[in-house]
Amino acid sequence: MQNNNIQWYYVKNGIKQGPINNEEFQDLVINKIIEDNTLVWNQKMDNWKEYKLCNNEPSVITEIIAEEIDNSEMYCFQCGKVFQKEKMFRYNDNWICEECNPVFVKNLSKSIIKTHNSEYGGFWVRYFAKMIDIFFICLIIFAYKTIIWSISLLYPISSFSYIILDNLYNYSNVFISAFYSIIFVGKYGATPGKMFYRLKIVNSDKTEVSYLTAAGRHFSEYLSSLILCIGYIIAVFDLKRRTLHDRICNTLVIRY
Ligand SMILES: [Zn+2]
Repeated sequence: MQNNNIQWYYVKNGIKQGPINNEEFQDLVINKIIEDNTLVWNQKMDNWKEYKLCNNEPSVITEIIAEEIDNSEMYCFQCGKVFQKEKMFRYNDNWICEECNPVFVKNLSKSIIKTHNSEYGGFWVRYFAKMIDIFFICLIIFAYKTIIWSISLLYPISSFSYIILDNLYNYSNVFISAFYSIIFVGKYGATPGKMFYRLKIVNSDKTEVSYLTAAGRHFSEYLSSLILCIGYIIAVFDLKRRTLHDRICNTLVIRY
C-alpha cells in the first residue's frame, strides 16, 4: 500500500535517523522514542516539524487519500489498508481495522505499563532517599573525625601538619559527601539511599551518567539547597520531576 511506502526521518540527539517505514515510525511513537518535540519529516511534508505539530502526520497521507476514497472509508492506522469506518475502531484520531485492533490494544497497554514503570522519582521519595544518604554520610564523617582526632592526640605534630590536619578535619563534610555521591552515582547511577527506593539517575536520553556528570550534579546540588531549597522544590512543579541540579546537568531521576 501507498501508506507503507512513506519514508520517515526523525532527529534524535541532533542526528538525523531513518529512513523508516510507517509501521516502524508508529512503534517509535508508542515506545516514546519519538516524542512530542522530536523533529520528524517524510517526503509528503514541506518541512521538518515537531511531532506534536503534525499530530499524527499520517493524517497528511490520509488527507491525500481521503480525496480519492469514499468518505465513509478510512485507512487503518496499523496496517494501512482501507476499510469502511463502521467496521473500524477509533482511538483518538486514529482508525484501526477489526483485524489490527487486538494487536493495537495489546501494544497500547504494553506502552502504558512501560511508561508507568519508568515514571520519575517524585519529591518525597527522593527526600527520604536523601535522608538515608545523609545518615550514611554522617556515620562516615563521624568515623573519619574520630580517627583524625585520635591521631592528633596520640602523636605530637608540627604546626604545619596541624594546619593540614585541621583542614582535613574541618572540611571533611565537603569532600566526604562529594566522594560519596560521585563514586556511587558515577559507578551505579544511584547513591545507597536512591538504590533503596529503586531510583536511578540517568541522562535525559535515559543513558547512564558518567563520573563527570555525577561530579557536576553533586556540586550544582549546592545551588539547589541555596535560597531555601527552592532548587529541590521546583521538582514538584516539573512534569519530569527535575530539580535545579537535574536541569543544570540534563539528568532525570527515574524509578525502576
Ligand atoms: Zn488494520
